[in-house]
Amino acid sequence: MERTLGIIKPNSVNNNHVGKILAIGEEAGLKIVEMKMKKLTKEEAGGFYAEHKERPFYQSLVNFMTSGPVVLLVWEGNGAVEKWRQVMGATDPAKAAPGTIRKLFADSIEANSVHGSDSAASANRETEFFFH
Ligand code: UDP
Ligand code: MG
Repeated sequence: MERTLGIIKPNSVNNNHVGKILAIGEEAGLKIVEMKMKKLTKEEAGGFYAEHKERPFYQSLVNFMTSGPVVLLVWEGNGAVEKWRQVMGATDPAKAAPGTIRKLFADSIEANSVHGSDSAASANRETEFFFH
């Protein structure tokens, strides 16, 4: 069984889409094994996205991710990393496939509703970062 970190971003918490997003993950065969709601600090959001520090969107992303509470969760299932990435859809909602979370709920490429770890190694690191 694999685990992956998911985040429901501030736009989707604010838009009352938490339940629908969780349902999409569950219907894909993933199980919630940890979950909490939290307003991230700049230090947490900045540290979490440290790999993007040199990118032009970094400061705006940190501001967005701290603009309201998020839902942090750990999904478990066979191929959980890839499965959650599949149901999330592409980073840019304009390029996301029909029926994906980002196509359904994203407000912009920044406010794209969800995060998902991009590899098993990232999943371990990100799960540690928020839960252990
Ligand atoms: N992002 C952005 N502008 C961009 C690319 C990414 O604001 O041009 C934001 C967006 O919220 C994205 C996050 O930065 O989810 C992390 O980017 P990454 O490339 O890791 O995309 P993801 O793994 O979330 O699909
Ligand atoms: Mg990423």
